[in-house]
Amino acid sequence: MDFKDFLQDLSSLEVISKDNQKIAIKLKDVPLQYANALRRVCLNGVPVFAIDTVDIIENTSVLPDEGLAHRLGLIPLKTDLARFNEPSKCECQSESGCSNCKVMLVLDSGDSDVTRSVLSNELSSEDDSVKPTSDKIPIVQLAPGQRIKVECYARLGRGTEHAKWNAATISTLTETEKGDERVLTVESTGALNPEQIIISGVNEVGNRLGEFKEMISQIEE
Ligand SMILES: [Zn+2]
Repeated sequence: MDFKDFLQDLSSLEVISKDNQKIAIKLKDVPLQYANALRRVCLNGVPVFAIDTVDIIENTSVLPDEGLAHRLGLIPLKTDLARFNEPSKCECQSESGCSNCKVMLVLDSGDSDVTRSVLSNELSSEDDSVKPTSDKIPIVQLAPGQRIKVECYARLGRGTEHAKWNAATISTLTETEKGDERVLTVESTGALNPEQIIISGVNEVGNRLGEFKEMISQIEE
């Protein structure tokens, strides 16, 4: 079976269970190689937002600048795939990006008289649709008098480039008693809803196979 047939016939995907974080779908009559390609793409082939570059304006915490930037990068961000472009596919084609491919988030802890934790809810985004999936992710602990002030730039990326862009935390394929049926379970980081990951994953596998076919036909010519 061609993956295209599989795409046209989404009835071969049956949702067994779903909630806000996790979805399980039954794949019927889908060859193992396609099912496994879909599993991998759901894990690291669907674009999501993550902080990519950080301008450190002030950092008097005990955490070095690199450590701070790394932690900021790992915060999962809500992603609206319909609104934003991946930088490589954006019309602006500029290194600095535009409002369709880049979002700025700023954080200024201010000064404090007591020791306190800076949490993800202190990041304020210029775009309401791109913000941390949780308010309670610790970023750094500040002692009295210490302060961080940063400007972060988030963009769409894929987990194949860096794990901070993984769309899913878990993506597994399990066999069932029936030989022609497998169960794909995907748990989202929260950036996308689990259904979106599956739909984008299906499109992505279709696109990649299309590109591959094109390459092969060029070689043949
Ligand atoms: Zn752009």
